[in-house]
Amino acid sequence: MINIMKKIFKTGIVTERNPILQEAPDSLRGKIKVARHVCTGCEDCVQACPVDAISFKRDGQKARLTFDYSKCMYCGLCVDVCPTDALSHTNRLKESVKDPADLIETYIVGEGVVQQDE
Ligand code: SF4
Ligand code: SF4
Repeated sequence: MINIMKKIFKTGIVTERNPILQEAPDSLRGKIKVARHVCTGCEDCVQACPVDAISFKRDGQKARLTFDYSKCMYCGLCVDVCPTDALSHTNRLKESVKDPADLIETYIVGEGVVQQDE
């Protein structure tokens, strides 16, 4: 402990101001972005997600693609399997909320969705 204190007095403490607010690299696997018009409703992303963070519900001519970001671990498997590149990562780094319900986001996808008979 004494040695650590000595080192701090000798070298000083170096910190960054607001490190979380700095620009994240474009390659960061952040929150998923959905290009609604190119989703075909194949549900490959739903099958690929290892933590069941994605659900898909058909509703007439439209469909609902829902992401639960409280489960998502940003692995990128859904992005990789999407055949139409409807999914991509943003480089958004900060995703904390007070209410976990705010981490559930639904996207209405439609134009490319192929309707299936029940
Ligand atoms: S990034 Fe991974 S964990 Fe998150 S929704 Fe996609 S497949 Fe699921
Ligand atoms: S986002 Fe991609 S993988 Fe998911 S249902 Fe739409 S087309 Fe299929």
